[in-house]
Amino acid sequence: MHDFVYKNKNLFCENIKVQDLAARFGTPLHIYSYNTLMDHFIKLRKAFSAIQALICYSVKANSNLAILKVLVNLGAGLDIVSGGELFRALKVGCPANKIVYASVGKTEAEIATAITEGILFFNVESLPELMSIDRIACQLGKITRVAIRINPDVEAKTHKFITTGKITNKFGIDLNNAYKILLLRNKFRNVKICGLHIHIGSQITESAPFVAAIKKVADFIRKLESKGISLEYLNIGGGLGIIYANEAPQTAQVYANEVVPLLKSTGLKIIMEPGRFIVGNAGILVTKVLYIKNTPKKKFVIVDGGMNDLIRPALYGAYHNILPLRKISKTEKADVVGPICESGDFLAKERLIANVKEGDYLAVMSAGAYGFSMSSNYNSRLRAAEVMVSKNKVCVIRKRETYADLVRNELLFKAK
Ligand SMILES: *Cc1c(COP(=O)(O)O)cnc(C)c1O
Repeated sequence: MHDFVYKNKNLFCENIKVQDLAARFGTPLHIYSYNTLMDHFIKLRKAFSAIQALICYSVKANSNLAILKVLVNLGAGLDIVSGGELFRALKVGCPANKIVYASVGKTEAEIATAITEGILFFNVESLPELMSIDRIACQLGKITRVAIRINPDVEAKTHKFITTGKITNKFGIDLNNAYKILLLRNKFRNVKICGLHIHIGSQITESAPFVAAIKKVADFIRKLESKGISLEYLNIGGGLGIIYANEAPQTAQVYANEVVPLLKSTGLKIIMEPGRFIVGNAGILVTKVLYIKNTPKKKFVIVDGGMNDLIRPALYGAYHNILPLRKISKTEKADVVGPICESGDFLAKERLIANVKEGDYLAVMSAGAYGFSMSSNYNSRLRAAEVMVSKNKVCVIRKRETYADLVRNELLFKAK
């Protein structure tokens, strides 16, 4: 479900015609639906209400403060992966005891700040990191908490760049080593190991990999209990897939039906970290057609949005549906490409695209997650504006960058 639908041949975001937004704010433009954003969060919360799971939205999917604030106001916690994301989380008033922090490469400074702020726990990805957290907590005179990120070695059945729970991925700790660390838990004087964490990948459309991973971890928890090691939290990560093309991902409710009994059996407090599921279909990227270029072999629709605005097609070969803002029934096969000087700069390849002409607009659908948050200034392009729509109201939630922004931190070199 989302709130980007055609009414009378025109694409709307809630009650506003998208074309009006493109004309008013310029392109490329990221547009979010407040209703869709809330709806996805609420669906998930409802599905897991029986176990009152804490939903820590994954900030990296879309880290705009306005988006974080909407979710925090609804009671969400936040899943962070850097000091910068911690800064954002605190800035929107997320209670520190609803923040969980994963990343294989946390720096000393990042760890120290997170301990001082009193986050709920770190998701620890290696023994050296655990030792580092223990040492830093000791220097600060604090006791901090961690969950061990388990690498359950399951196949997530998704793109190889977004699978994270195979033993050959850099994430988490295998069960044997996790067990050894847990046996030594009292040696870490300033760290309390309070839980386990898994996150097996992203854009996972069926429940089976989640079930397999949770079963492994639940068995492990029972083994630990039999050895007198008791925990408080199980963090099941994110990774729920959404519809980009013709996937039929499990709904929040089906996912919950599959995993809640397993989670309940652990007796632990449950945390989850969805990103894409909440924000993916709540956003689109609107771009303007600059030129139609016909070559002997191909038709190119050249648009003003590029891989610096949305890198998913270039990075993962990801599919995004591309729709005209004004419905056109005639379609033609084309590549939709951006202005950037890279052959990898495309939004769609060999795609049946509405027969648009110069000056028309296209909407790249499902661009709310890993869209703006992965954007860059490559080719000295200004990062796009972001707006949020609620019913017939629109607010700019990030201004379009200016050329002054582009060079703000640059200094000329002086040889003497
Ligand atoms: C990226 C990430 C998530 C969110 O993944 P989605 O596929 O967007 O739900 C959750 N947890 C961790 C540790 C992550 O790295």
